[in-house]
Amino acid sequence: MTDIDNIFLAPCSREQKTGTYRHFQETILDGVDPSEYTEIPDLDLDKVSVWGVVSGNQSHWEKMEPGDRALFYTKRKSYTHAATILSKQENDTLAEKLWTSYDEGRRVEDLDEGWPYIFYLTDVKRVDIHSEALHDDIGWKTFYPQSFTRLTEDRKGRLVNKYGSLTEALRQHAKNEIGKAPEEISEEIENLLAEQDPPELTESTTEYTETERRVRSSAFRRAVLDAYDETCAVCGAQRKSPAGNPEVEAAHIYPKSEDGSDDVRNGLALCKFHHWTFDTGWISISDDLEVIVRNESGSETYKDLISYDGCSLHLPQNPQHRPHSIFVREHRRLHGL
Ligand SMILES: [Zn+2]
Repeated sequence: MTDIDNIFLAPCSREQKTGTYRHFQETILDGVDPSEYTEIPDLDLDKVSVWGVVSGNQSHWEKMEPGDRALFYTKRKSYTHAATILSKQENDTLAEKLWTSYDEGRRVEDLDEGWPYIFYLTDVKRVDIHSEALHDDIGWKTFYPQSFTRLTEDRKGRLVNKYGSLTEALRQHAKNEIGKAPEEISEEIENLLAEQDPPELTESTTEYTETERRVRSSAFRRAVLDAYDETCAVCGAQRKSPAGNPEVEAAHIYPKSEDGSDDVRNGLALCKFHHWTFDTGWISISDDLEVIVRNESGSETYKDLISYDGCSLHLPQNPQHRPHSIFVREHRRLHGL
């Protein structure tokens, strides 16, 4: 069997309030009826799945060949669909007909510009590929694709080195997805919330396999959000996306970058702004679990934060789930607070 020649990554996140996901649903999942559009080439199909990209992504699109794969990022940290490229076509008129009308959300800049670099897809499949794990393998730091991208030779090389082929890389990533083992994660959440042993500052690197660590890391997120009732520990915000997903994130007090443990006592639920201020050292917490704000009184950010200085955190009901002093001390030390 010949290997896949290339992989394209396409952002279509449901959380963007832009209608992109709606277009994804309409023109990829539902597919369009080619008899309604004279511009669509004869593909001998009743329904055809079609997508397009803006001129900024033209260079990626130009390298696209039939048989290449596209992965669609529609959910936080997840590529939920894969498809095979059938053919491509540049067509402004068709792009305008397909992707300019919808009645919710605001009009995105992308759409003002149109998506004239069109491609047709076949074999659209539901998959569950953990974006963080895939990006890790190709050497990307972010867990989401910033724009429509073709994997460079270097990034493909990384996958081939690790898995032997691109086909196998996709197969393994689809298989490793933690979503495939919900019972394993709920068990790990239980373990994390029941943890009684003295906390360890860092995560053991030898004790777990890569898959186990991923399960643990996902369970950590869920356990922290549950413990804090999806409430920001600093400001008490409980914002949700239109789809009902919480804005709050599970922050590590002693950070993941230092290999901080996936222990609920090393966790805090924080809204995006407070997560950022916590990770960058604008704020920390005292042993009494009160907010400490860095004293940089000239700064705008300081002004946004100062009212929280000395305030008690919004903490989990269960005292066992509250931040442990070994982690908060290290966080203060790390940021010189
Ligand atoms: Zn907050």
